[in-house]
Amino acid sequence: MPSDSALRIVWIYPDLLSTYGDQGNALVLESRARLRGINAEVVHVRSADPVPETGDIYLIGGGEDRPQILAAERLRRDGGLHRAIARGAAMLAVCAGYQIMGSTFGGEEGQPVDGIGLLDIASSRGPSRAVGELAAEVDAGLNLPTLTGFENHMGITHLGPGVKPLAKVLSGIGNGNGFEGCYAGHVVGTYLHGPALARNPALADLLLTWAAGDLAPLDDTRYNQLRQERLDAVLSH
Ligand code: GLN
Repeated sequence: MPSDSALRIVWIYPDLLSTYGDQGNALVLESRARLRGINAEVVHVRSADPVPETGDIYLIGGGEDRPQILAAERLRRDGGLHRAIARGAAMLAVCAGYQIMGSTFGGEEGQPVDGIGLLDIASSRGPSRAVGELAAEVDAGLNLPTLTGFENHMGITHLGPGVKPLAKVLSGIGNGNGFEGCYAGHVVGTYLHGPALARNPALADLLLTWAAGDLAPLDDTRYNQLRQERLDAVLSH
């Protein structure tokens, strides 16, 4: 159990939504907090368990269609995530987890399935599977470097007026209309795997800042070299 003073990173439903190493997002947040002397702990919430309302940063990952539907049902019934976000907690939702946050998403046969309505988005089946590297230039309001990662999804996502696009696609598909992901308040949705926060440490720091305030800088030289190599490879095609 986490101690009272720790930054609580809540990893939702590792038993249902944990494809492509998205759990690494929790490890990156924990490690970048600890490197700054911030005590941080990761709480794993399995789908049979209630979602705690006292977390600081909530994470939810990608998954197959069937577990995605189950996760949406359970989150809606549980209500803990809604209450946590209403009190100002931060969240990163990836791929299936991103789609779940909207009003609807496409099920196994493309049928519309109810999401949990935490973001003003609606997803459905796209014309073909989006697979490959994704690079995108982040909305100026967030002041972050170019995002990199990979995507693997059938869904496309329409953004309503209650959210802003997270980034403009430079390479890849993202939401399917030239933009990638979205954000509203302290909630970020994205199609990026990688894990997203390992490939984009500045995004990890944005979530940490929302949860814990100003952060001391870290030496990300090696990270930045790897990021640049990846971006050069993707954007030179
Ligand atoms: N099942 C969803 C889709 O195909 C999400 C996939 C994923 O999380 N990788 O769009």
